[in-house]
Amino acid sequence: MLKKVWEYPVAPFRVFGNLYFVGIEPASTHLIDTGAGLIVIDPGYPESLYIVLESIRRLGFDPMKIKYIVLTHGHYDHLGAALHLQKLCGGETFIGRPDRDYANGTRDLTWAKELGYASYESAFEPDHLLDDGDKITLGGTTITARLTPGHTEGTLSFFFDVSDGVRTLRAGMHGGVGMNSLSGAFLKSHGLPMDLQKQFLAGLDLCRKEKVEVFLGNHVGQNDTLGKGKRVLAGEKDAFIDPKGWLDFLDKSEKRMRDLMAKEQAEGSAQ
Ligand SMILES: [Zn+2]
Repeated sequence: MLKKVWEYPVAPFRVFGNLYFVGIEPASTHLIDTGAGLIVIDPGYPESLYIVLESIRRLGFDPMKIKYIVLTHGHYDHLGAALHLQKLCGGETFIGRPDRDYANGTRDLTWAKELGYASYESAFEPDHLLDDGDKITLGGTTITARLTPGHTEGTLSFFFDVSDGVRTLRAGMHGGVGMNSLSGAFLKSHGLPMDLQKQFLAGLDLCRKEKVEVFLGNHVGQNDTLGKGKRVLAGEKDAFIDPKGWLDFLDKSEKRMRDLMAKEQAEGSAQ
């Protein structure tokens, strides 16, 4: 039987400067203290929102100061808690324009059932729909959203500065690299564009051009969040500064996509 998300709590910690990890395993939640309110990136599953709120509190922040809820894409493990968080604490929601219909329940593509939950019962109408290059500013933080479709049609990758008061570094997060929603069979069965596979590769190229110093993941496996988090909790300040890790991760993601495309092509021509 699938374990439930509350069986995977993670102790919260500072990633770097004004950026914190407040999520669970495996889907990540990040918190930015902008100086004029808080930004949450991907609040996660509804079922684990209480852990996220408690993590925010344990780090000394007031969840009622959340102003923006920013979403990488329209899957349940990232956006499922957006409605509940907004109801509890306020805050405006942001998502990539093509994923609007995932969020508001028009299209049954949030993966709630596939992830082991009965259904998607937290549909909401996003306050802001983002296009490629849009910027979100709050206090001293500006997040640049880049459209990197593939995993979903509206997957966004985020780039922003973080600061510890002495150093200002560029943080980057790809919005979704899971191959589960990129197989030809999946795209076909859901009426999604077949060229999402190629769009995914183009998005990786776009990410390579970003000078990322603080490498973030929207799943803990992407950047070894838990291993680096332990190092931070042991006193290391720069555990997440990993520009090479970012580029390696993009290369690995490209290889997985190309391998899948080659496999599907071979299967197709064998028929
Ligand atoms: Zn996803």
